[in-house]
Amino acid sequence: MSNLDRKPATTLCGGTSSGPVRDLLPAKNVPLGESTVVRRLLPSLGRRMVGAWCFVDHYGPDDIADEPGMQVPPHPHLGLQTVSWLHDGEVLHRDSLGSLQTLRPGQLGLMTAGRAIAHSEESPREHARLLHGAQLWVALPEAHRNTAPSWEHHSQLPQVTGGGLRATVILGELAGTASPATTYTPLVGADLTLPSGTAARLPLEPDFEYAALAMSGEAEVDGVRLTPGALLYLGCGRSELPLRAEVDSALMLLGGEPFEEKILMWWNFVGRSMEEIAQAREDWMTGSRFGEVQGYDGPPLPAPMLPPVPLKARGRVR
Ligand code: MN
Repeated sequence: MSNLDRKPATTLCGGTSSGPVRDLLPAKNVPLGESTVVRRLLPSLGRRMVGAWCFVDHYGPDDIADEPGMQVPPHPHLGLQTVSWLHDGEVLHRDSLGSLQTLRPGQLGLMTAGRAIAHSEESPREHARLLHGAQLWVALPEAHRNTAPSWEHHSQLPQVTGGGLRATVILGELAGTASPATTYTPLVGADLTLPSGTAARLPLEPDFEYAALAMSGEAEVDGVRLTPGALLYLGCGRSELPLRAEVDSALMLLGGEPFEEKILMWWNFVGRSMEEIAQAREDWMTGSRFGEVQGYDGPPLPAPMLPPVPLKARGRVR
């Protein structure tokens, strides 16, 4: 982690005074399955959450022409929403509600796990050469975390344009433009396309905290050069964000009202207590609560062992 400010502000938002920061947080390379390595940007050593965003993996572009590609067997989730977003390729989603959906670039796959759901994700047998995308999680607040599970597929998402920039609003709201997808806390997730020569100022919500990640190319975000493999945490108190690109680039912008609840994240669960997590693990391993994913060619993922030291719920900053 490197802080580019010489006098870094305390990154407590909402209530406590704070201001914009520019913390460049490097990704951790995490193997996923046999042939895939993802760049994990959240949680990281420097930061656990940005708004309600609590998990961000960036993968690819990987050449999977002669490979099976993504093969993630059925596994459970609770207490969160998963956001699937592609720049290249396609992913076949199946879940225990019976959903069966092929996701393509520019389409949002939003799964609200609520109290319990299981799903699998795989590259279809016939697939494009390149696979490139992001997998993100949004923590559900206490009032909604036991909501009924649901699956949404949005292929029509609104856009915001200006200064050469094109922003697709995936989730939440950006510059007064709202995504049709269901959210439970004030937040935003947007895909930003910056053709060579872009010089734009994107309107932001001062009460939100924000972070940006590069999907491709090399863009300048508030003067900081951002390339794939790092998350730039921007803090709060900003009413706009200067963006420039001299080569064709793509970013994702994540933001939201700082998430005040302490959460406990373990494996694929976002809970509040160790007892709750242990019960969820037990329910998955005994085949109750999460339902069954039909049609995936292979056994479900077994849960890892619980850590010997009890987990404790933690806040959004490390
Ligand atoms: Mn999943």
